[in-house]
Amino acid sequence: SDWEKRVSRSARRASPSSLAVLITGAAGFVGAHVSLALKRRGDGVLGLDNFNRYYDPNLKRARQRLLERAGVFIVEGDINDAALLRKLFDVVPFTHVAHLAAQAGVRYAMQNPSSYVHSNVAGFVNLLEACKTANPQPAVVWASSSSVYGLNSKVPFSEKDRTDQPASLYAATKKAGEEIAHSYNHIYGLSITGLRFFTVYGPWGRPDMAYFFFTKDILKGKQITVFEAPDGGMVARDFTYIDDVVKGFLGALDTAKKSTGSGGKKKEPAQLRVFNLGNTSPVPVSELVAILERLLKVKAKKKVVAMPRNGDVRFTHANISLASKELGYRPTTDLGTGLRKFVKWYLEFYPGSKKKSAWLQRL
Ligand code: NAD
Repeated sequence: SDWEKRVSRSARRASPSSLAVLITGAAGFVGAHVSLALKRRGDGVLGLDNFNRYYDPNLKRARQRLLERAGVFIVEGDINDAALLRKLFDVVPFTHVAHLAAQAGVRYAMQNPSSYVHSNVAGFVNLLEACKTANPQPAVVWASSSSVYGLNSKVPFSEKDRTDQPASLYAATKKAGEEIAHSYNHIYGLSITGLRFFTVYGPWGRPDMAYFFFTKDILKGKQITVFEAPDGGMVARDFTYIDDVVKGFLGALDTAKKSTGSGGKKKEPAQLRVFNLGNTSPVPVSELVAILERLLKVKAKKKVVAMPRNGDVRFTHANISLASKELGYRPTTDLGTGLRKFVKWYLEFYPGSKKKSAWLQRL
């Protein structure tokens, strides 16, 4: 059928050494960037996304158009649809799955808890079920989260640190994903790599994240709420620029070993890895606001309040020595440089948000 032709054309490997990758969450922020980066270097890429309405569907559609122009087709469907996954794996012998589909966001879990269970737990299991029976069995690289470190206060966070105190349902489902990965690796010999992202930001970013809605509200002259720790300590994030995360993700795909197949009887155990992908340089949220004020040339109307118990943690900071050693991961973008690129994109994407002026041309 036409659909099958488009699917196999999009995902076809350019050479035996290139990859054939199924990217779930391809219309999402990180998924779109990973798709483009793989396509640019000649890998076969097929996207899958359910285009849910958690945030502005127009932004997801715009990312889809960007990908289609680059030759990446996105199938509209849910990772919980077993028949659809079976069909995709039948049409294309994927070598890798880049799993970025999830219900993201920490605070929304208080409003819609079941969407986290649906996408991050049930959906992940359904995807691994499809990988398990696919021939060949693809190596899986998926997005976990720095939130698994939860209330652990020992910083910087290293992969060996405790992850048994999630501060939100979102974090709990990401932690569950890591345990689920362990079981599929153990029983079925699936090669699985979890990447713990630390507050990823940049062009085409997510409207529910602070850097994004601060930009929007500052430009509108609307008051923004900045959290401070109840004891006056700083609230800070290890903001990581999207291009750095994409390089880490590609490093994980390129070093992923083949799945060994079921039984785990083979001499070599199947690969199971977890890495931090952070920036190793936490920045207080107050400094994030100051950088945005400088870039936007607008003074923010700030309301500073004590952080409520809403699932957020106070501080994140990645130790990245493992990813650096094993994946060649080296983030190079500081927050000022990355936010400049974000703001430039924002003003182009939402042209009504600020009159074009000389300073904008210089960004
Ligand atoms: P995003 O919301 O922009 O992308 C996720 C995409 O998955 C969306 O386009 C959504 O429509 C799709 N999706 C959700 N549920 C689905 C389902 N059941 N079936 C099919 N598609 C579905 O989020 P993002 O920022 O690109 O995040 C990508 C991954 O990285 C997620 O797993 C997220 O939890 C994780 N992560 C992101 C950050 C960050 O700072 N951006 C930090 C830590 C972890």
